[in-house]
Amino acid sequence: MTVTVDQEKVLRTYAEAARTAHDALTALDQLSGDGDFGDNLREGLDGVEAGLDARPGEAPFAVAAGVFLDEVGGTSGPLIGLLFQEVGRALAAHGDGREGWAAGVREGLAAIQRVGEAEPGDRTMVDALAPARDALDGGAGFADAARAALAGARATADIRARRGRASYVGERALGAPDPGATGVALLFWSLARVAEP
Ligand code: ADP
Ligand code: MG
Ligand code: MG
Repeated sequence: MTVTVDQEKVLRTYAEAARTAHDALTALDQLSGDGDFGDNLREGLDGVEAGLDARPGEAPFAVAAGVFLDEVGGTSGPLIGLLFQEVGRALAAHGDGREGWAAGVREGLAAIQRVGEAEPGDRTMVDALAPARDALDGGAGFADAARAALAGARATADIRARRGRASYVGERALGAPDPGATGVALLFWSLARVAEP
């Protein structure tokens, strides 16, 4: 059976999750960075919802990519923009079911790594994306991909950062997960919620 996923609903669910998680994501980025990740993600996704409202009928992930690439600050804004861009391309090419998502996450992660040069274990969003990619590539469903992303994000709590601002603070962030990995895991949680309610 082919599961197709309502792309706009995934983005709106993600926006709601980012509003709910805002204070927790802010606290995580205060520990390991400059404290703006909660704002960046929430405001970016609020902007995506406004874009979806203003441009109905446009490909949802293309709208989302445009907002994050052009308007969202921080290191995470353009990187999440690249993820959205590749997901949008892949869903257009392969359909908005599991195959499309597997291809989109694979290409999105590759683009993020080309630009950011982070490897798994560097304590970045790559640590949530790589397990999700591996799960989808291995044929897993969306709920298992979300579990993999969340487990990857949680495991960053034990990693000393080698990339991004968190690499400047050393021990201080140990014990708390990386904000970007946590925030990206919420995308997969949203996808699983919409696909398998
Ligand atoms: P900034 O550090 O510029 O304020 P944000 O707060 O928006 O950026 O985002 C911080 C998150 O960006 C980190 O938690 C990490 O997950 C992610 N990040 C930082 N550097 C990289 C990188 N080189 N590759 C992938 N993700 C990164
Ligand atoms: Mg920050
Ligand atoms: Mg910043």
